[in-house]
Amino acid sequence: MPARFSTWQRNFLIALLGALCFTALAAENPAENPYDKFRNRSYSNRGYLSEEDEARLGAEVHEQLRKQQRFVADTALNSYIDNLGQRLASRSARPNIRYHFFVIDDKSINAFATLGGYVYIHTGLLAATQSEAQLASVLGHEISHIAARHGLENVKRAQKYSLIAGLIGVAAGAAGRTAGNIGELAGGLIAGGALMKHSRDAEREADYLGLYDLQRVGYNTGGMVEMFEILNRVGGSNPDLLGPILRSHPPASERAVNTRNEIAGYLPGSDRGGNNNSQEFQRIKARVGDLPSARRRPGLRP
Ligand SMILES: [Zn+2]
Repeated sequence: MPARFSTWQRNFLIALLGALCFTALAAENPAENPYDKFRNRSYSNRGYLSEEDEARLGAEVHEQLRKQQRFVADTALNSYIDNLGQRLASRSARPNIRYHFFVIDDKSINAFATLGGYVYIHTGLLAATQSEAQLASVLGHEISHIAARHGLENVKRAQKYSLIAGLIGVAAGAAGRTAGNIGELAGGLIAGGALMKHSRDAEREADYLGLYDLQRVGYNTGGMVEMFEILNRVGGSNPDLLGPILRSHPPASERAVNTRNEIAGYLPGSDRGGNNNSQEFQRIKARVGDLPSARRRPGLRP
């Protein structure tokens, strides 16, 4: 790899671990509907990196990930995930950018989004799902992190709190720079501890937006509740599969409650109709079982 990446490549992983998505949420004030603040919110890149620079940074992060992770080469699996992801993205709160969906061959249960439409899902998560609606709920959540600019917010917040003078104003000055420049700037941000994990509110917002993605594409919204129940069960019986950061978070049962309440209050009946499955999903599940990760211990590296 180029020498200029070597000082911060490792920090990408640290930062991405910090950005792990399926973190559980604790209700801070049970008397309030935690989703109310997200209703009618509109999103744009105003105040953040431009969409062009965001995509460039996302591509730069992706290049680093390709060196660190084992990406699945199975064409059928990749195109299935891409197709499902694109359908959800096209009905999301941010339909007008290019999305990229990738499958990482890793037994741990995880999915994450970075910047500029880049979404990743572990085979371990695929293996844990029992329906296409559940899987779609995960992708909807990740797409929603991108729609709500959570990665961009992390970058911006890092600039704000960093005392490293060279990093201040990156967002304003980045337009027109080359991809290499932005990669170096991103490396500096990450090396400075920049890309922190999402706030609990950001995770709630991704759950909220993702639920509506699911509903708009015609999936049974109960799939999202079921997914949280699966994560909760795995957390109880086999926490190693959730990784150290996920283990340190509150149980997913609270996210299930939020989702159930939203369905009951705003999408009544959507958990009784809609699609749950497809023949393709079952076929894909069988392929996941044949991948090398199915025979390896969980972890970022074998
Ligand atoms: Zn998340």
